[in-house]
Amino acid sequence: MYSKSLETTISAPCWSSVMTGLSEEEHEIHHNEVEDYNIIYSTNFINKIREVNGITSYGIASSWRPMCQIMLRSVDDHIFYDEESVLESDRKVNNKLIDILNQEICPDIIIPYFNNVDMVGHEYGFSINSKHYIDAIEEFDNMFGDIIETINKRLDAKKWLIIIVTDHGGVSLNDLSAKESIQYGESTGCQNVVGGHGMSLLQMQNIFIIVNGIDFKNHYELFPQPTLLDICPTILFHYSLYNRNLNGRSLQLIK
Ligand SMILES: [Zn+2]
Repeated sequence: MYSKSLETTISAPCWSSVMTGLSEEEHEIHHNEVEDYNIIYSTNFINKIREVNGITSYGIASSWRPMCQIMLRSVDDHIFYDEESVLESDRKVNNKLIDILNQEICPDIIIPYFNNVDMVGHEYGFSINSKHYIDAIEEFDNMFGDIIETINKRLDAKKWLIIIVTDHGGVSLNDLSAKESIQYGESTGCQNVVGGHGMSLLQMQNIFIIVNGIDFKNHYELFPQPTLLDICPTILFHYSLYNRNLNGRSLQLIK
């Protein structure tokens, strides 16, 4: 589904909203240099589910260390890979995830995080005209194909809710107007990069959400567009813990 990130297209605010369903104003994570992610810890979906169901959880992250605080601090156990290349870290995440999924009994919730597409976007531009960027997406797509295949071989395959989401989009700075380029430099402090994000331009907010599970039978687009705030309600719905007081919508309820 074509979807929207937060207006602040920066990883820590966006992933914090994914984990909690809270808006940026509510969780107050506005940038990546955050020391205290306590609110994310106390309000995220893993803790909400754990309070009611006896779940086990595991996280696997590649190369961007704040992810361990934002997404992985609440899981029962996690592993962090920081190899020489980001792609190598992503491959280790993928191999670890497949190893876990091949076990007869595996954690109820697994959160893998891949970083290479963002890195390549910064280096070569977030653009369909960038061969490196397209190659990085295809590389991830291949890895994810292996993951889906592994889940499908499991006896409990039909019970799984699979959500693939990214935190934000991005642009090639060449594609920005002169005024936008100056704004980009001022608001992000980044110079001399080919691709970027961090502002509220539509291209930077433009993301996808892919969902698969027993409650999703058709290919369809939603209007208004889903947002990152819908991820948490969607996961809670899977555990029969959805309530309408949440900011976002459960995507299972919109047909
Ligand atoms: Zn980035």
